Amino acid sequence: MNTLTFASLTALPGQRVQDYVNVDIKGIVVRLPVYLINGSESGPTLLVSAGIHGGEYPCVEAATRLGRAIDPDKLRGRLIVLPSANPIAFKARSIYVTPVDGLNLNRQFPGDPTGTFTQAWAAWLFQNALSKADLYIDMHGGDMIEALVPFVSFNITGNEEVDAKARQMAEAYGIRAMLVKRDAGGLAGTTYAAAARAGVAALLTEAGGQGVWTEEEVDILQDGVRRVMARFDMYENIADAGEAAVELGGWEWLRSEHEGLFYPAVAVGEMVTEGQAVGHIADIFGNVLQEAHAPVSGEVLFLVTSLAINDGDPLMAIAYE
Ligand SMILES: [Zn+2]
Repeated sequence: MNTLTFASLTALPGQRVQDYVNVDIKGIVVRLPVYLINGSESGPTLLVSAGIHGGEYPCVEAATRLGRAIDPDKLRGRLIVLPSANPIAFKARSIYVTPVDGLNLNRQFPGDPTGTFTQAWAAWLFQNALSKADLYIDMHGGDMIEALVPFVSFNITGNEEVDAKARQMAEAYGIRAMLVKRDAGGLAGTTYAAAARAGVAALLTEAGGQGVWTEEEVDILQDGVRRVMARFDMYENIADAGEAAVELGGWEWLRSEHEGLFYPAVAVGEMVTEGQAVGHIADIFGNVLQEAHAPVSGEVLFLVTSLAINDGDPLMAIAYE
């Protein structure tokens, strides 16, 4: 049995350690909260992160509850929980980006220590956390201006062992909608794509949104982690198996081509048919600038709920079978 070390923190076998790690990134001190739970028996190292985007709250609450609840005496392996992995964005209640440099942290991985603040923070997280895990779950949700249907996603890397483990995690999680990403460049720079390319079985999970958090959404996310831990024989299972995973064929994103006001004509979770009018963008005087039509038939998986919209912003994603 070995000690579990993370930056300046160390947990002995059978021990839980919870504290802040202070990291100087480009002259800014990041105060990163960390839970280390070192099991009394050997097993995989699972990393769970939340709050990569600062305005996604159910995942942050789910992660803190896991960090406090998992009993090291019953754990086989190691659990590292980063409940607020982008503390500066969390404090600022920032949508999508980190305010220091306006970059989306979840587009910067594996990061660049010589880059801007967000690029260097991604590099620190990748080197100290993501690359050191056997299994990785990055929990998100809709941002403050997004509603979504809960979903899980993983990347196909070509490493069959890693890909098979990621699929096992996705299928165990208990969320119905499962997106399998086969174009590695599709969302370049995400946590779970970068980790998967480095040989870490990695899963993205999403629940909640619109700047609020509910017990139901917190439970969807924390129960899923417990089911994955049970699937890999790290911890006792919970009684409720959750929803059976259904693999989707893919998703199409609609984007704004104008700055203006967004009027969706559909609700999140609604089924739409190809060509259906799903919303429009108008200027402040009511002149229609853009009609949005469904590019495919499927389910509205996420929807931007902000009246204010910028040129190039996502409007919604439609998932198809
Ligand atoms: Zn997010």
